Amino acid sequence: MLVCWNNDVVAIQVLPSLIIDQIAAGEVVERPASVVKELLENSLDAGAGRVEIEIQSGGVRLIRVTDDGVGIPKMELPLALARHATSKIGCLDDLENLQFLGFRGEALPSIASVSRLKLTSSTGEKDVGWCVESEAGVMGAQRPAPHPRGTSVEVRDLFHAIPARRKFLRKERTELSHVEVVVRSLALARFDVEWRLRHNQRSSLILAPACTRIEQEARLGEVCGRGFLEHARFFERQIEGIRLWGWLADPTFSRSQADMQYSFVNGRFVRDKVLRHAVRLGYQDVLYQSRQPAFVIFLELDAGRVDVNAHPSKLEIRFRDSRLVHDFVFRTVEATLASTPELGGSVPVRLPTHVHPSGPSGHGASQKALGLREGYEAREILPSHRKLQSLGGQPFLQNRDEEIPPLGFALGQLPIH
Ligand code: ADP
Ligand code: MG
Repeated sequence: MLVCWNNDVVAIQVLPSLIIDQIAAGEVVERPASVVKELLENSLDAGAGRVEIEIQSGGVRLIRVTDDGVGIPKMELPLALARHATSKIGCLDDLENLQFLGFRGEALPSIASVSRLKLTSSTGEKDVGWCVESEAGVMGAQRPAPHPRGTSVEVRDLFHAIPARRKFLRKERTELSHVEVVVRSLALARFDVEWRLRHNQRSSLILAPACTRIEQEARLGEVCGRGFLEHARFFERQIEGIRLWGWLADPTFSRSQADMQYSFVNGRFVRDKVLRHAVRLGYQDVLYQSRQPAFVIFLELDAGRVDVNAHPSKLEIRFRDSRLVHDFVFRTVEATLASTPELGGSVPVRLPTHVHPSGPSGHGASQKALGLREGYEAREILPSHRKLQSLGGQPFLQNRDEEIPPLGFALGQLPIH
């Protein structure tokens, strides 16, 4: 029992299920892009080979995701919209070895509680489909609805009954760009799937399945742009039970923002501090401190070594042995960049009299990259801006507009005595 500010006494009560779903929706459904993410993950979990996304008004008016996955049997349609109902785990141990992107059983009910939702599905028997509709969490009965094998989820008027949430939505263009980020990241996670995105009846992205490396790199160019592809270097490395592969852009393609950093762990797009830090560290000798690297990396390891149940949006994960992962990623990135020939010779080099060589180091790659002779500490040659100032060095400005070059400023080439 609690006493309110106006002295009313409030007894403990169990919340109505609609409110429980709407509260859960607060964590899972932040904006149209988060709805799209959940629906796409469901399509992938259903084994889809082709996924179509149609949105209107940045996804606020309509989000429709159609897939050709296994479908949902008629009797299970209401369950799909029920809270904590899932076909992906049956007990806690299943979480240890999760083969799916979803497992919480709360996305569809959460989305349904803050929108008008229509779920249509067919398991493929004679093209017969069934649908259920739900408005603000209140579900109708199943009705026949023709549908090829697979599922369509239609989400209309997101947050229509919750003006407080609507207020947080941004302009159509901004919401669309968030949706595009989600689609792009999943398109990288699953090269084998065909993706189509339409906004306001206009096609915005069409990606055919990409199976060979050439096809995958073509997709990479579509998703991250030709500039990334031209500067990207494929790599692949494996140690006991952990495999890391992907593409790293060489430092000349660095960015002012961390907007081209895609990391995937066992096919799941994640924003993970351990990975980001490890990659950043791998670039540290060849990238000016204020610049951001561009990369697409895939880490694969035993599902039991990752805890995916760290956050409702499932974007955050925890590694059981994060130090090992960090070290492996760092060293792989460093070694990959070390073998990048494209870096060579493009940075002007001048000799400042006050910098002294610090002796042999393990950073021969950065040295070669800068056209430096072996035996000198690359860190001394590529200082951060602060370090540069503390050395009293004047940066050699190559760019007329005085922009910071992506590699930072080279101070000079040091002779070997
Ligand atoms: P979760 O994905 O965590 O299980 P959801 O609320 O997202 O929870 O979905 C509930 C269930 O509905 C899923 O476990 C799955 O069985 C079914 N489902 C949802 N979307 C699809 C789909 N596109 N194709 C097949 N089944 C689906
Ligand atoms: Mg789900």
